Amino acid sequence: MPGRTAASTGRSARISPNLALDQRIAERAAAGERIVHLGFGESRLPVFPPLAEALTAGADRNAYGPVVGDPGVRSAVAGYFDRRGLPTDPDQVIVAPGSKALLLALQLVHPGDVLLADPCWVTYRPQVLLAGKRAITVPIPAEAGGVPDPALLRDRIRSARLDGDRPGILVLTSPDNPTGTCAEPELVRELCAIAEDEDLLVISDEIYRDLLHDPDRPYLSPAEVIPHRTVVVTGLSKSLALGGWRIGVARFPADDAGRRLRAEVASVASESWSTLAGPMQAVAEYAYGEPPELTARLRADARLHGIVAAAVHRIFTEAGAVCRPPTGGFYVYPDFAPLRDELARLGVTDGEGLQHHLLEERGVAVLAGAHFGDDPKALRFRAATSMLYGATRAEQRAAREAGDPLGLPHVAAELDRLRQGLAALTGH
Ligand code: PLP
Repeated sequence: MPGRTAASTGRSARISPNLALDQRIAERAAAGERIVHLGFGESRLPVFPPLAEALTAGADRNAYGPVVGDPGVRSAVAGYFDRRGLPTDPDQVIVAPGSKALLLALQLVHPGDVLLADPCWVTYRPQVLLAGKRAITVPIPAEAGGVPDPALLRDRIRSARLDGDRPGILVLTSPDNPTGTCAEPELVRELCAIAEDEDLLVISDEIYRDLLHDPDRPYLSPAEVIPHRTVVVTGLSKSLALGGWRIGVARFPADDAGRRLRAEVASVASESWSTLAGPMQAVAEYAYGEPPELTARLRADARLHGIVAAAVHRIFTEAGAVCRPPTGGFYVYPDFAPLRDELARLGVTDGEGLQHHLLEERGVAVLAGAHFGDDPKALRFRAATSMLYGATRAEQRAAREAGDPLGLPHVAAELDRLRQGLAALTGH
């Protein structure tokens, strides 16, 4: 086939490593193997019943409807942003089947190469390559993941330009995947100043924003600082555990350039996914209306994520790893560099080796840092802690309702198995 192929864009034709690992673990678990599954970035919690009711009530919405979403759902989304301190007109909003689709459309329509944090979510880089652009990676700072270290970013932009690249987009994620941390307002301001000086469009991926473990923690969106050059992308996959329902949202700048960008993304939408499924628009309208019962559910779930992520963080640090304390979402990202010598004696010398060893010898599934763009030699991996709530709906419901989720026998047993697996690994 003539033209761009996976090989010519530097991509291999494979499914996302996150999804591939989950499929493998599911097959092995079905065959009777016991695995502590920390390998998949999903909030494994049941559907909150009023969401299912909204879905059923929306079942007769079978017309295609507007590409960008019906006015009702876009008003609800605008209201959500208004309450967050981001005044929003419904005409700044597009709803779509998942934020992934919106992120890809943005890469396709906005010119310029793309600055990514290293490590970052597994999908950004393949999307950049699919759009025929270059990914320019910048290491994260010590204090948080999801964003490039501002001390390195300016130099990296300059050297990229000297190499013939044309940086045009900066992707920021807070809280992030894979480190489960949130950028402090001061850090966000520094990055916004660079975006302004260097004329970059900021794509702010805020899909974990409503899962801050401490609801009083100060949160600053780049859209509050540089609204004219920030597109906020978010969705309900993580906060409401609705990944399979595919509900994503983008909020565009209010000015002419923002309107043009939105029209271009809508054009991609019209030629690919057409619109968000009608029943899902009914769900999104209910959810973004933020009724009190839903807000209470969300806060309780964020608390659960915080408690379990902190427990897993403790287990890793007690085993000798260094690790940023998680502050949002459901991930931790330990670094076993302090145990490099001990691990080498087990034949483990890099991140993939560590992932392999943990799965095959210790029954613990994690995803090596290299999948997130990290140095393959680094002994780092992502552990998705929300998989610990239970294998059945009943267990997950119990975790959700428990005042002390760590005291539940099925959660405690998984944490124990993790602790034992790591102790055997390091001799600690
Ligand atoms: N952004 C980040 C940082 C994610 O971790 C994920 C899912 O893992 C997504 C976006 C995708 O979300 P969606 O289900 O809305 O496509």
